[in-house]
Amino acid sequence: MTLLSDFSLFLQEKKQEDVKIAAFLAHDNIPEEMMDACGIFPFRMMFGGNEELMNASHDYLPPSTCAFTQSSIGLFAIKPSKYQFLDLVDYFIVSNHCVSDICASETITKYFNIPRLNFYVSYTKNENSEKYFRLELEDFKRQLEDITKSKLADDKLYGSIKKYNKFKQKLLELNSLNLIGSKKLHIIQEAMLFGPSYYDKLTDFIESNRDKQIHQADTLKNVILTGCSVFISDYLVDSIEDAGGNVCFFDTWIGSHYYSQIFSEDELNSNLNPYDLLVQRYKKNFLSDHSVPNFLDNKIAQLVKINNSYKKKHDKNVGVINHIIKFCDHFSMLSSYFKEKLQKEGIKVLNLERDYSGGNRGQISTRIEAYLEMLE
Ligand code: SF4
Repeated sequence: MTLLSDFSLFLQEKKQEDVKIAAFLAHDNIPEEMMDACGIFPFRMMFGGNEELMNASHDYLPPSTCAFTQSSIGLFAIKPSKYQFLDLVDYFIVSNHCVSDICASETITKYFNIPRLNFYVSYTKNENSEKYFRLELEDFKRQLEDITKSKLADDKLYGSIKKYNKFKQKLLELNSLNLIGSKKLHIIQEAMLFGPSYYDKLTDFIESNRDKQIHQADTLKNVILTGCSVFISDYLVDSIEDAGGNVCFFDTWIGSHYYSQIFSEDELNSNLNPYDLLVQRYKKNFLSDHSVPNFLDNKIAQLVKINNSYKKKHDKNVGVINHIIKFCDHFSMLSSYFKEKLQKEGIKVLNLERDYSGGNRGQISTRIEAYLEMLE
């Protein structure tokens, strides 16, 4: 609750400074630096849901839409709400991360009267998709310039790219701390919600937790959380910890996918123009779901690599929980292939499909407990 009221105050201050707010569903590839450079706050929608929020979306979309997007619609639909700060949103970005994303974003713009911005990304990754990405950046620039009624200067954009890069490097540092997963996730979520203005808080947090150790670390079963993100106020990581587990790596959009996309100093000083840099980052984002056909094999290879270094250090394999939000096609369709491939490498996988219904919680905990018992 403090997080929501702090964020509400933060957005109100932005409005008083005449800053526009552009919201989008929390996946990857949205060029937040371009908004920042135009003085627009990029607001990553990353709130988990509950039955009430999901049900509130059914007037707009069928219940076969993923639970995250159902809840995101519900956040706008239920009044009065503790997410009242959503009334401050000036624009909503319609993007095509998946079918649910595009349907929910269109619904939000249409039925809650929020002007839309568009940013589309190719599903395949090749030379043409890079060209297409550049065209989308140019189009997005035009849309932002229409809002601000001024030109977006390259040096301003370059400044924002450097600012976000520094912020992500700090998050990467947080990632390496020896902290219990729920604590780490809480800070990651908060930082990603507030953006680079959270940098100093993040630095202080890292300094005061640098030498901390996880209490009774030897008794915990470490797992990598992959698949769909765990969003703000979702209980999933708590359930894993209650069952004796610990998420040691967040291989999700709210996690490593975000802060691993950083530029090296050489890249930043390479004289590439800022749009070339953004295209280059898109090109290197080979773990994105928009890297068809290789995304799943890339992901598997990356998890095997993480497991190998974990095994060297701990002399056992790490577990993998593949979190599938119900009706998320990106992760549900290939979950058997994913599990089979990793199990061949000796890594035990739990494909955990769920929505935000409260009634599922007991069953989810039982499945996690049974899975953790199987781990070394
Ligand atoms: S279906 Fe999956 S990828 Fe799409 S919005 Fe839902 S959680 Fe995100």
